[in-house]
Amino acid sequence: MIVIASPDACTGCLICEMVCSFHHIGKYSISQSSIKVNKSILNREKGPKITIFYEKDKWSPVCDMCNLEDSPLCMRFCPENVFKLEKGME
Ligand code: SF4
Ligand code: SF4
Repeated sequence: MIVIASPDACTGCLICEMVCSFHHIGKYSISQSSIKVNKSILNREKGPKITIFYEKDKWSPVCDMCNLEDSPLCMRFCPENVFKLEKGME
């Protein structure tokens, strides 16, 4: 399973980036997130562009589906329920 984003309802609060970085490095630093919410591509109807890095990227840690957590933190803490699980990459 992987996490996918449906950004229509995204407000750009960046909580997902913060909790993802906390998972990876134990502190809040959005530069260390596997999620990038690009508000500069904000489309009023479709929301911002949300990228989840499942492969190695120059800057961002790879999503490990919150290995060892009870559930993916981005799913648990996004106030708008933007993230959901989908089959893939198995
Ligand atoms: S936590 Fe949810 S609403 Fe906030 S930026 Fe991330 S995807 Fe958007
Ligand atoms: S599942 Fe965990 S590691 Fe992957 S993007 Fe969400 S918070 Fe980050």
